[in-house]
Amino acid sequence: MKTLKGIAASAGIVMGKVLLVDSEEMNVPKKSIKESAIPREITRLQDALTETRAEILNIRDKVSREMGQEHGDIFNAHLMVLEDRAIIEEVMGRIKKEKLNTEYIFSQVLKKYVQSFLKIDDEYLRERVSDITDVGRRILRHLVGEQKTALSELKEKVIVVAYDLSPSDTAVMHRKNVVGFATDIGGRTSHTAIMAKSLEIPAVVGLETATRQIQNGDTVILDGIRGVVVVDPSPAEVQKFRQEQARFLEFSKALKKFKDLPCVTLDGRRLELAANIELPEETPSVLSHGADGIGLYRTEFLYMNRPDLPTEEEQYQAYKKVVMQMAPKPVVVRTFDLGGDKFLSHLEMPHEMNPFLGWRAIRFCLASPEIFKVQLRAILRASAHGKLRMMYPMISGISEVQDANKLLEEARGELRQRKIPFDKEMEVGAMIEIPSAALTSDILASEVDFFSIGTNDLIQYALAVDRINEKIAYLYEPAHPAVLRLLKTIIDNGHAKNIWVGICGEMSGDPLLTPVLLGLGMDEISTSPVMIPEIKKIVRSMGYAEAREIVDHVLTLNTGLEVVNYLKLRQAKKIS
Ligand code: PEP
Ligand code: MG
Repeated sequence: MKTLKGIAASAGIVMGKVLLVDSEEMNVPKKSIKESAIPREITRLQDALTETRAEILNIRDKVSREMGQEHGDIFNAHLMVLEDRAIIEEVMGRIKKEKLNTEYIFSQVLKKYVQSFLKIDDEYLRERVSDITDVGRRILRHLVGEQKTALSELKEKVIVVAYDLSPSDTAVMHRKNVVGFATDIGGRTSHTAIMAKSLEIPAVVGLETATRQIQNGDTVILDGIRGVVVVDPSPAEVQKFRQEQARFLEFSKALKKFKDLPCVTLDGRRLELAANIELPEETPSVLSHGADGIGLYRTEFLYMNRPDLPTEEEQYQAYKKVVMQMAPKPVVVRTFDLGGDKFLSHLEMPHEMNPFLGWRAIRFCLASPEIFKVQLRAILRASAHGKLRMMYPMISGISEVQDANKLLEEARGELRQRKIPFDKEMEVGAMIEIPSAALTSDILASEVDFFSIGTNDLIQYALAVDRINEKIAYLYEPAHPAVLRLLKTIIDNGHAKNIWVGICGEMSGDPLLTPVLLGLGMDEISTSPVMIPEIKKIVRSMGYAEAREIVDHVLTLNTGLEVVNYLKLRQAKKIS
């Protein structure tokens, strides 16, 4: 038996057999082959090259059609990589000489090429690394395809262990037999972790060595509350697991009674308690957990796990479905936020050194107005069917809001021409998740109808802590005085201009911090559906005056730890 400690990413405790999923670049299996199998391995390589070529040609044509030829031409560079005889011949030669499987040899050769390109002191050539990696991954995907699909045809329930899982891998897991997952890398606010929480799949991330310490078929206990994975548990551990699982299920059941009660403090302050969703299928869970609405619908997941862009009609149908299911409750649709840790293989998004500081979200949308306006029209059309609000992600200053609003106005004009109805009063908000936006929120407040604070990003930018890096997760402190001061500034500036202010980052679901958010004057809290009953319970158990008192005190403290300790102490006193 051994116990691995990681970061608790999604609550719940499960026990089950492990399925070790190979990551595309890290854990390609290494298998010896017989002399007689060499021709078959070479044919597999050739088939993978042919399939990849067809795939790239298809993407090139689609991108040229939808975004213009100069974007499509990018893929010509990929075709050139694919046809590079030096790589192919080296792979063939090594398969024959080393008698190892194609995918393993291929991944080795690929790594070697990438390393040597990275060393070259020429920016143009260095930039070709992303082309090589991209094409290399496509080829590998064709080669290891059979194993990947193992995940989609699971006959029994498994706990997936992987080096990393992309948010899009996670998005499809709920339809499979995956009851929990553990990864080597990642942090609490990575989109993979957020997705797990939404789908109510218990998860532990940032375990660092899980893929090396756990074997396929091992039995593990995965505790997504404490962030622990127990491998090959002893009978005593199994018994403890059963007790803790029962306690967790009982706790979740007890909270259900808050479902239909309003989110209001003892002294009558009403808070809008909304839910975050990534997929339209989550709407029933939002309603069954008793949310007042949807405070963040991350629409980018509609763009993922597919070879093309969703059309206006398709997006309209998806948003309309959510809005109608929720009506008359409000739904805040966030325009798509790609980049950072969410990518599309077919959209031309360059490999960046600092993707979270790079070409993502509204920056990408303003640079690609034709793609952006398709979404804006779809959102506007859906607004005719219920109470839809819309917000822009990653706003850094007022010009971006103005530029986005110009495109919104164009989209409205296009719909008017087509005589399609939309809500002319639809509220338009800005996410405040960059310190520059927080510090100029007095200026931004004149331009929008509401603010929604994205603390996942705000914290990473304010504290300079990459939100998905497990090595510095200890520095990622939502209760840091700098974060609390930023929240206060945003809320006060919003209220001074009479607009409402909400929060939709993961700290909104931390029960310890609920009194602080309440006391700061937050008008809306939007969090994972599963957290709603617990947050509601806390709001209903305290007065607004008491929450304000707590805030007055925590704003005098010097460190995040002091804030957390003070809140824990108050909580303990309240319970006793
Ligand atoms: C945030 O940054 O807090 C947020 C809600 O957006 P996302 O997590 O999708 O970046
Ligand atoms: Mg964000």
